[in-house]
Amino acid sequence: VATSPQTIQDLRAKRAAHRHWKADGIEASLWIAAAAGLALMIESGGLLTVSGIDYIYSLGRAAGIVAAVLVMSQVLLISRSPWIDRVIGHDRAALRHTRYGKIAFILMLVHLGLITVMTAYYDGKSVFEQFLDFSQVGWFMLTAQIGFGLFLLVVATSLYIVRSKWRYENWYAVHLIVYVAIAFVVPHQFMEGSTFRTGGFAWWFWFALYAFAFGSLIVFRMIRPVVNLSRHDLRVAEVTPNPDGSTSVVMTGKDLDRLRARPGQFFLWRFLDKERWSQSHPFSLSRNPDGESLRITVKASGDHSSSLAGLAVGTRVLADGPLGVFTDVARTKPGIALFAAGIGITPIRSMLEAHSPEDGPCAVVYRVRSEEEAPLLDEVRELAALRGADLHVLMGGRGEGWAPAGHEGSLTDAIPDLLSRDVYVCGPGAWAAVVEAEALAAGCPRESVHREQFAW
Ligand SMILES: Cc1cc2nc3c(=O)[nH]c(=O)nc-3n(C[C@H](O)[C@H](O)[C@H](O)COP(=O)(O)OP(=O)(O)OC[C@H]3O[C@@H](n4cnc5c(N)ncnc54)[C@H](O)[C@@H]3O)c2cc1C
Repeated sequence: VATSPQTIQDLRAKRAAHRHWKADGIEASLWIAAAAGLALMIESGGLLTVSGIDYIYSLGRAAGIVAAVLVMSQVLLISRSPWIDRVIGHDRAALRHTRYGKIAFILMLVHLGLITVMTAYYDGKSVFEQFLDFSQVGWFMLTAQIGFGLFLLVVATSLYIVRSKWRYENWYAVHLIVYVAIAFVVPHQFMEGSTFRTGGFAWWFWFALYAFAFGSLIVFRMIRPVVNLSRHDLRVAEVTPNPDGSTSVVMTGKDLDRLRARPGQFFLWRFLDKERWSQSHPFSLSRNPDGESLRITVKASGDHSSSLAGLAVGTRVLADGPLGVFTDVARTKPGIALFAAGIGITPIRSMLEAHSPEDGPCAVVYRVRSEEEAPLLDEVRELAALRGADLHVLMGGRGEGWAPAGHEGSLTDAIPDLLSRDVYVCGPGAWAAVVEAEALAAGCPRESVHREQFAW
């Protein structure tokens, strides 16, 4: 049945509106959970005071409750739950995870500081003495203190300065200590926290929040990849070196259409051989997933990506995904403009392959240093001709703006009807940021500019 461009446009607008509703709903539920925690605190007598100074103690309790809800939200955001990733995207979920982490840590400091100072004041002790005495209350207070120390360690290693000098794997290994820190901190909330320790509804409410956050993490990050492994039996079928130095890896398996992967999406790939089983890395699909095979194309940018050229055919692959919303699902406009630079061509190439005339006019801008260094250029040329897409290959050294040095002109000079298209951008961070900024400055609405970042 032929569908008119207007109907397609209406469907896109509806879908975009739904996503916004859902994204707002996810954000709102976090604050509703925090508000419910605070309401339960008040219900348990949290605002009953003898003198005005007691409100400082209440503030400390409130800070602890909101910090805990933010930590649970952080766990949910990186749980790779489809209902989160499909709505806000994996990269934005990771960004929010980091942002909430910073607020949670500040609130933890406030909680610990105010509760210690106020308890010291009530008991007539020094703050230091009081801090040490907390561990006498019970094992759960000692573990809470150790847990806080572990949070301190993780925050210190997450600071930009340390992160930029550390290998990703080292930083990630230390980052996993967060789960130990949470396990150490949680018991004091149930056994000492005045809001929840008495049992009843408040206790179950708090338990349900933790069960939901950690349940999602276990289901989607641990169980789902293993189920995928046994269900699809994904294995490396071909490893092809490309003329520009990148490597394409084709994987085949059973019932791959059940993964429901879309062009533009990525997976976290774990190649199960002796050398690589311990690392999982994100790579986008560089071919339209056809139900029979999946392909990635990888630029050698470090130890792991360089090693993939040596993968053996038959190696089993644990694929976690599909992830990301850099797909046609995010479309809002009648046309599409795909911008790629260097290895950022991978998701763009698969989107171009899946493009059909009903999807509206398509333009591809491919920014490369030289013909020899352009991954998948021949394929992109062939596909652009097949799909009737306008292809602009811009070659040359790095310039100030979106185009190579010496190339004058704005985005709308290259694509005059840019405002009636969705703009998809994938490439090195600084370049992608310039394209995004220029598209917005040209008048493209925020929701029609989509960007995939190859680093979180
Ligand atoms: C959504 C997404 C899609 C991507 N798609 C492609 C693609 O199609 N083709 C391609 O060549 N590259 C792609 N990348 C980049 C690729 O994941 C990194 O280049 C690769 O993981 C580097 O690992 P390394 O050990 O070789 O290099 P390293 O030198 O160890 O790492 C280089 C940088 O890559 C990032 N990185 C390293 N390991 C990971 C990891 N496990 N998870 C997340 N980031 C990590 C870090 O920012 C690090 O600083 C993609 C990245 C993301 C986030």
